Amino acid sequence: MYYFDPHIHMVSRTTDDYATLARMGCVAVSEPAFWAGFDRGSVDSFRDYFHQLTDFERRRAAQFGIQHFTWLCINAKEAENVELSREVIAMIPEFLDEPGVLGIGEIGLNKNTRNEAQIFLEHLDLAIQFDQPILIHTPHLEDKYLGTRMILDMLTSDHRIDTDRVLVDHVEEHTVGDVLKDGFWAGMTLYPVTKCTPQRAADIIEVYGPERLLVNSAGDWGPSKPTAVPDFIFEMRQRGHAESVIRRVVYENPIEFFSQSSNFDYRAPDEEAVVTI
Ligand SMILES: [Zn+2]
Repeated sequence: MYYFDPHIHMVSRTTDDYATLARMGCVAVSEPAFWAGFDRGSVDSFRDYFHQLTDFERRRAAQFGIQHFTWLCINAKEAENVELSREVIAMIPEFLDEPGVLGIGEIGLNKNTRNEAQIFLEHLDLAIQFDQPILIHTPHLEDKYLGTRMILDMLTSDHRIDTDRVLVDHVEEHTVGDVLKDGFWAGMTLYPVTKCTPQRAADIIEVYGPERLLVNSAGDWGPSKPTAVPDFIFEMRQRGHAESVIRRVVYENPIEFFSQSSNFDYRAPDEEAVVTI
């Protein structure tokens, strides 16, 4: 089965990981901008990172038949540096017309601070000004419910936001209901330690159905497994779910959500075969 990984940080993964993903059926990835493992010191550092995301990673993925898409922002961990955050937000439009740039993300909250909330709101203004879809990071562990609620309140109180064009990521059992009820898309991150396991994600699909739900691996610097989406596919099959339901979550839902970006030029592998004949 073909699948998308809609949230994976390939800058932190090896080329061998791309090869493994391709063999597992991955045909496209979307990579949100995130923390580099250290706080960056200048706007030029972000400019270089955005070049890496929009050029180098796209070419590295293409070697394995994987289409690479990306989202741009300054992440919540670095939002405490408000001055730098504003410089990055002002620079992002330089990249919005680059191939594969789907929108603004992953923006959100980390420790639910005042500065994080302020920079989140300024990212929303940027997304609205340039008519961009939005991908949202919700905090981890004990900060998750409060942070998710703060984010949903900021989004729903802004009448300019189209909920169809917002994906709220890292949902768990105690946050997924609120996200879906408010009309957003929801992403489940399959992690070996925190966040969701493939089993818990399958449980959530059984409760809420496949509509507006996506699964991803996050595949980042920390303990994470880039092949977590195939683990989810296997878990769903073991439980006897129809292939059509599984494909909806791992393939059709990402395509439907991403298609709202004018830069989403995805072509299914079989379509490409027709073109080359
Ligand atoms: Zn992420």
